[in-house]
Amino acid sequence: MKERALALLRRYYGYDSFYPKQWQVISHVLNGGDAVVLMPTGGGKSLCYQMPALLMDGVAIIVSPLLALMKDQVDALMQSGIPAAAINSQQDEYTNRGIIAGAIAGNIKLLYISPERLIADLDTWIAKLRISLFAIDEAHCISQWGHDFRPEYTQLGTLRERCPHIPIIALTATADRVTRDDISQQLGIGDAKLFMTSFDRPNISLNVAHDLSGKVKQRAVLRFIERHRGESGIIYCLSRKTTESVAATLRAAGINAKPFHAGMTTSTKLTTQREFINDEVPVIVATIAFGMGIDKSNVRWVIHYNLPKSIESYYQEIGRAGRDGAPAEALLFYSYADVIQLSQFARDSGQSEINLEKLTRMQQYAESRVCRRRILLSYFNERFDHDCDNCDVCHDPPERIDGTVLSQKAMSAIARTGQKIGMTTAIDILRGSKRADVAAAGYDRLPTFGVGRDTPFAVWKSYILQMIQLGLVEVAYDENNHLKITDFGREVLFGKRCVEFTKFEPHAETTKAKRGTRRQTTDRTTLEGILNQEPQAVMDKGLYETLRQTRLAIARSRGIAPYLVFSDKTLADMATRQPTTRAEFSTVYGVGEAKCEQYWRAFTAAVVRHIGGR
Ligand code: ADP
Ligand code: ZN
Repeated sequence: MKERALALLRRYYGYDSFYPKQWQVISHVLNGGDAVVLMPTGGGKSLCYQMPALLMDGVAIIVSPLLALMKDQVDALMQSGIPAAAINSQQDEYTNRGIIAGAIAGNIKLLYISPERLIADLDTWIAKLRISLFAIDEAHCISQWGHDFRPEYTQLGTLRERCPHIPIIALTATADRVTRDDISQQLGIGDAKLFMTSFDRPNISLNVAHDLSGKVKQRAVLRFIERHRGESGIIYCLSRKTTESVAATLRAAGINAKPFHAGMTTSTKLTTQREFINDEVPVIVATIAFGMGIDKSNVRWVIHYNLPKSIESYYQEIGRAGRDGAPAEALLFYSYADVIQLSQFARDSGQSEINLEKLTRMQQYAESRVCRRRILLSYFNERFDHDCDNCDVCHDPPERIDGTVLSQKAMSAIARTGQKIGMTTAIDILRGSKRADVAAAGYDRLPTFGVGRDTPFAVWKSYILQMIQLGLVEVAYDENNHLKITDFGREVLFGKRCVEFTKFEPHAETTKAKRGTRRQTTDRTTLEGILNQEPQAVMDKGLYETLRQTRLAIARSRGIAPYLVFSDKTLADMATRQPTTRAEFSTVYGVGEAKCEQYWRAFTAAVVRHIGGR
């Protein structure tokens, strides 16, 4: 069966192998099992239900929360020559009836539908279908714990009972554990097998710039966009006013940027969104509202003009870049003024304690000199125990010291209290504090009491923070912020692994002079970089530009988004391999049969013209 699947993968999608866990999910569903699939954005969730749909008899029903997402998926499938359609309320009923007839006749492999329509029509026309599987996309919408709860989704809880023999596959990119656990329960698929991949997005380079004043910051943004000319990107700001002023500055500098915020009319917002998707406007300056329900795969960069309110928001927003797997860049501007403003919002929020804590973790991320990816993945409780080499800290590393013995001391103090202390008490024990409550708890009799006496409080604080960021210990928010030792931490504690700390520098985080000299962004990650893994293969940048124009012209004439014709990654591979014949064209990454047939002439002609003109 796997051979057949791989043949279809090549034929319809133009890919040669599966991403991690894709085949495991596919074969599980083919065997009739229910599945919960947790993968980050860009992890390749769609294929997990599309491939079984292609391999099984009948039609797969895909539940999706937003019309725009359904349309995007259907367009993409049709482009690849796969018969797909969506039933929706914005189409006239005549069109819907035609699609229903087609589905009953067995002419459609994937049918997209909203949850309320699925439940409403389950006993009418849907009962006449031969259904291969149900896929619940954006499955976190079923959970009240999640950030995007949709009451319509809760009705899906009856699917399992009403259609007991049809596999259900739930998919989400949510990184939040409570929500994840809720999904299978709400759907009534308690026996579903869980498939989870790393939430790392290795193609996104992570960068932070510090303490730039207004004008300097705007110049830095301009320079950044100059480097990314013509590429799509999003700038996130805290206020509507800032979105307007940044967009105006960019336009004055000749960059086609538009603001996007909740104060605009619905029709203006829709127009702006469409212009962005169709590569007509490359830069959007937005408040956080922008990006939901957009599947655009060729967003190449995201700038945070202001500090986000939490690591969750930050990760979701940078995640909108680089869905196609080609290199993408995230740049965060950090300033203490933002922290003050966000603290005020957090205090007014009604959940001030937890929101302030989330803000503190975000601030610590920005101020830290530890590999940024390690901090992010540790925050999401994922083990990631090496430096990433694709963030500003890794590219310009600070001085390091051996932290093994220091962290062993701290962890044994934590372990000997039964992991029932927070950071301050841990430091008090290490430093042999005379505090009454330390003695009252009997901590002064621990063998670790006072073993870190010669290290000042502030220095211990920096080290323990690093232990959290490196993933040696976790903060248990639901247990008074007590520190808990992770598996990785235990390996260090028992001497199986070593760990390095960034050397403590007094006031390191407030010295602006030093910051000014620090490189703010990095050039190391370019589209060529990752694609040209074979040393002899070099991407022709001029040709890449030409191919982008060819793609744009085709997309315009067909009325679809350019990234649905081909992804940036496919264009980059084309610019490297420079196919001039149909046969050569068919082997390019992401070129399946249907697209080869439709587009080989236009693209190989562009290559020939370009080579001829050199
Ligand atoms: P998600 O829904 O998890 O965000 P998608 O299903 O949209 O991810 O896939 C992200 C990108 O990766 C798409 O451009 C998709 O075509 C591509 N992709 C998916 N699976 C593979 C694969 N096995 N090989 C190469 N590219 C893939
Ligand atoms: Zn790193």
